[in-house]
Amino acid sequence: MRRFWAIALSCVLLLLSGCGAAAPEELTLFAMDTYMTLTACGDGAKDALEEAAQRINALEQLFSRTREDSDVSRLNRQGSASLHPETAELLSLSLSCAEATGGAFDVTVAPLVTLWDITGDAPRVPSREELDALMPLVGVEHLHLHGTDASLDAGCAVDLGGIAKGYASDQVAAIFAARGIRSGAVSLGGNVYVCGTRPDGTPWRVAVQDPQGAGCACILSLQDTFAVTSGAYQRNFTAPDGTVYHHILDPATGAPAQSDLLSVTVLGASGSVADAYSTALFVMGQQQAESFWRAQGGFSLVLITADGRVRCTPDLSEQLTLSEDTSYVLEVISP
Ligand code: AMP
Ligand code: MG
Repeated sequence: MRRFWAIALSCVLLLLSGCGAAAPEELTLFAMDTYMTLTACGDGAKDALEEAAQRINALEQLFSRTREDSDVSRLNRQGSASLHPETAELLSLSLSCAEATGGAFDVTVAPLVTLWDITGDAPRVPSREELDALMPLVGVEHLHLHGTDASLDAGCAVDLGGIAKGYASDQVAAIFAARGIRSGAVSLGGNVYVCGTRPDGTPWRVAVQDPQGAGCACILSLQDTFAVTSGAYQRNFTAPDGTVYHHILDPATGAPAQSDLLSVTVLGASGSVADAYSTALFVMGQQQAESFWRAQGGFSLVLITADGRVRCTPDLSEQLTLSEDTSYVLEVISP
């Protein structure tokens, strides 16, 4: 009998069908404030998953903003720190992504993330005065990185929440490659990496969640790629007046991005970059996101717009199928 696992995650669902004759190895863990599911097939799969889980936990120990002894917490608290090479590497990549996206992705939004506390215990809507007081602290010019030595201007802080899971998925991919895993699929809270094909040679099936419902909007047939979704529906809180505030902040306004997009899925060869870009392109909105894709290249896109369209880049048109029961309309983004 054909087996299906539908792994319901915050944004991307992996539809996994069997590992051929051998049972797939599966591992789930809670790390980086999200549920993670890892599957690998073939010889050495169990060891690969265990190493991957250890690696993810070690990265959380470096990048967490809630663990007091993490690299990021030390830097934010002390204003300067000598960092683990991986923390420095991820901060350096974050700076490149900030530059590439014109500041739509910006890890120095941390003071605003703390103020809103959307994913924390006490979310609230700050006053304009409170936001204005913190806006001068936001901007990558406040982060100074020299090798593994980092410093921040007074009052500034960094938050790697928009890129850390993507980085972790890159590391899982490296572990799979080093251990000879040729078939596997992982979802780190919606940051998906699919390794090779399914053992029967067919592509993995990755479902993009319907941001407005419980099901999925479309399914992608993928192999050897990263797929990362950002969306307003993933983490948010409802204020007493009924307004919903989500967790992706526009560094230009200090408030949750007023996007005409419901979700952005970025596919490419780097989990870290796909993660940073999915956050940034959500902030940008449809037109700017599509212009960015035309100008930048090197990745693919699935945008779900607030007015009910699923817009994909031309390279995905053969790989994307709308869900049967969905009212979304499929459109291909012009090159
Ligand atoms: P993601 O789910 O990857 O889109 O990342 C969202 C998380 O990244 C938030 O929960 C914040 O911790 C952080 N964040 C919010 N807005 C931004 C932004 N514009 N640039 C970088 N990180 C952000
Ligand atoms: Mg992101």
